[in-house]
Amino acid sequence: MMKKNPIIVWFRQDLRLLDNEAFYRAAKENRPIIFIYIHSIAKTNWHLGFGSGFWLKKALEFLSKNLSEINSKLYIFQGNPGTVLESVIKKTKAEGLYFNWVYEPDYMQKDKALIRKLINKKIDIKTFHSCLLFNPDEIKTKEDHPYKVFTQFWNCCLKYHKINKSYPIPKNILFEDYKIPSLGIKDLILPKNDAFEKKLELHWTLSKNSEKKNLNSFISKKLKNYSKNRNFPFLDGTSKLSAYLHFGQISPKVIIEKIKKKSNGSDDFIKEIGWREFSKYIMYHFPQTESKCFKEEFLKFPWNYNKKLLSLWQQGRTGYPIIDAAINQLIQTGWMHNRCRMIVASFLIKDLLQPWQEGAKFFYRYLVDADLASNNMGWQWSSGCGADAAPFFRIFNPILQSKKFDPEGLFIKKYLPELKNLDKRFIHFPMNADLNILKKAKIVLGKTYPYPIIDIDTARKKALKAFRKIVKKQKLQ
Ligand code: FAD
Repeated sequence: MMKKNPIIVWFRQDLRLLDNEAFYRAAKENRPIIFIYIHSIAKTNWHLGFGSGFWLKKALEFLSKNLSEINSKLYIFQGNPGTVLESVIKKTKAEGLYFNWVYEPDYMQKDKALIRKLINKKIDIKTFHSCLLFNPDEIKTKEDHPYKVFTQFWNCCLKYHKINKSYPIPKNILFEDYKIPSLGIKDLILPKNDAFEKKLELHWTLSKNSEKKNLNSFISKKLKNYSKNRNFPFLDGTSKLSAYLHFGQISPKVIIEKIKKKSNGSDDFIKEIGWREFSKYIMYHFPQTESKCFKEEFLKFPWNYNKKLLSLWQQGRTGYPIIDAAINQLIQTGWMHNRCRMIVASFLIKDLLQPWQEGAKFFYRYLVDADLASNNMGWQWSSGCGADAAPFFRIFNPILQSKKFDPEGLFIKKYLPELKNLDKRFIHFPMNADLNILKKAKIVLGKTYPYPIIDIDTARKKALKAFRKIVKKQKLQ
């Protein structure tokens, strides 16, 4: 019998077997499949951070294990994806390349160039939208423009488009060992921060298929109260599925299918999956938002770049406990609660007047769920310059936010143990406590805990003045 030429399934942000359309379609061709992962080491604006590097290693390890259970193998490479693919195609005589799109501009640009090149070499290329619920090219206004407002986008998705059923893991796939040299996961050049990784190892219990365990436990224990609890950082009220979703260990479709079967809390949760979808949709249709504001008038915003203020924010030494606790949560666990992401972003941008890109870069370095589209949308939303963003003049007051969302100071005390003895009346702003109270709580301002680095009332006035400048300019144009 004549040997059939193989198809390459190229994994990227879809490190799973279940509901992976590229894999499913390749298996249908009844040819041997070569599964590959290529770690690109090209310099980009948004290179992998410590948190992502940690998570990626685990995700690849579990993907390899899952493949070996179906008598297959993951070939791992490092370098320029185009060059690697051409070499694998040559060595294995592969006739097809199947992959799921990643909607980040750098990927889109390189993938399109690669497709053009390989099509000329008669390689059968098939691409799929398995990382999303909907094909972003199909969600358009009546005038055939991309949506810019979340509610309209999401209504259109749910009303006029069907979420296809998830794809099962194909059975009896054909595998041949092509003896092409594959690297081990530990050979990959990834950002290194041993101390941080140790903390992550302790914090995250990751195992093969832990995404499924997490989802099931979220549905049985937290979904019912999700709407009520999701805003409070001292509660464990959200799914913590973001890193699994970013690396594609679980697909949004599989989540929706499981969630839809339940009632309470489902709508709010599904809406958050909708925000994930929207962020990738916006980045796909407006690739400039990778580093620039969606609203162009903000390109002229008079930021007050200040290395010292930025560094104090990054260290969690601002003197505003909710900010400092949230930054500590990030650098101790690689994750930050959504409410806190909004509060610290508002503080950096609108109180300290630092460009949102600086905050986004810092998040990107530490988050285990660092995702270019969601991160940039979150930062642009917070600064008022994004698609469907919070208006600039909505400036979060960190003390009021803290009182509202961490009334007893439980979250603050967890991540700022130096404040653990402070009375809850002063936990949101220790500056207001008199010396006796501070002494009783063993706090020396300026020593054990910093003085506030700015006065938020003055900062607010300054921010609004800066904002008015660009609004005026806009009106004059
Ligand atoms: P859940 O509340 O359980 O939500 C379920 C899923 O919905 C999440 O896992 C996530 O995939 C998606 N989701 C929820 N909220 C949002 C949102 N606002 N935007 C987009 N998707 C959302 N999310 C990331 O995945 N990566 C990032 O790098 C990232 N950076 C952010 C930066 C800022 C400044 C802000 C304000 C938000 C950012 N988010 C980011 C969105 C959100 O904070 C996280 O997705 C969420 O906190 C993850 O926790 P969870 O999985 O428990 O969320």
